[in-house]
Amino acid sequence: MNPTADKAPGAANAGGYRGRLAPSPTGYLHLGHVRTFDLARRRAEEKGGVLILRNDDLDSSRCKPAFVEAMYDDLHWLGFAWSEGPDVGGNYGPYDQSRRFRLYREAWYQLLRDGWAYPCRCSRKDVLQNLGAPHEGEDEPVYPGTCRPESPEFVDRPDAVQGVCWRFRVPEGESVEFVDNHLGRRAFVAGRDFGDFVIWRRDGLPSYHLAAVVDDAAMRITEVVRGADLLLSTARQLLLFRALGLAAPGFYHCSLVRDEQGNRLAKRNGGMGLRALREKRYEAAAILSLAREESG
Ligand code: GLU
Repeated sequence: MNPTADKAPGAANAGGYRGRLAPSPTGYLHLGHVRTFDLARRRAEEKGGVLILRNDDLDSSRCKPAFVEAMYDDLHWLGFAWSEGPDVGGNYGPYDQSRRFRLYREAWYQLLRDGWAYPCRCSRKDVLQNLGAPHEGEDEPVYPGTCRPESPEFVDRPDAVQGVCWRFRVPEGESVEFVDNHLGRRAFVAGRDFGDFVIWRRDGLPSYHLAAVVDDAAMRITEVVRGADLLLSTARQLLLFRALGLAAPGFYHCSLVRDEQGNRLAKRNGGMGLRALREKRYEAAAILSLAREESG
């Protein structure tokens, strides 16, 4: 018997609320993760639902086994439990993204067949240079459309095209609206607030957006709890759900944990890192309440 699956909220519940913890093991967890995961857990508990753990380890150059190990250790130490995941199995596995490549590739092909994607040769530097105005803000720059063909073009063997990434053609001017379960109604305009975004990377891997959408749908997630820094990503992903003919989950965006200078936390986070806090002998309960503070 698995102790984690046993402790997880609503392990016996089927067909109801399904939430997820989806850490990327590209660094150690910090207070921002704790806030998101704590909220995800509480939402699942409130709804008598199921919580799953997905290991977002797609990027093999950045995901390290040591971070995966630390992630499990930190989550267990904080008292998190899940009823499906890489370590406990479940009906919608595998739960490691690195083992789900085939599904992402199928989705990419489907988008290409339906005229939603095109190859792009621009480097990040090109994109920045081709922008009419300097790029500001935390989100990626709005792609200026340099490689976007006038009308969709059929590409027979996308794998054979080297040195390009593939972008999703957003419906220019369309308002993408959703009711966030925490922040209320949100609306973003495609082509203005965000532009054509990458779905397949130059290095042959699916982008975060494509993988997240494919998995959230395939794993029957009913609500995604994530940081408010991902609001625009949610808008992008809603377009992907629709283009792929998949049902989208609900969303709950939580406020970000900031450091003393008001900056958002990064993977190299110094004092806000869980490892550092554990070394300072913080108790799990103290860390959870630290992460909850000023959370609204
Ligand atoms: N693995 C992603 C991250 O850690 C998940 C974000 C999300 O899709 O909610 O940022």
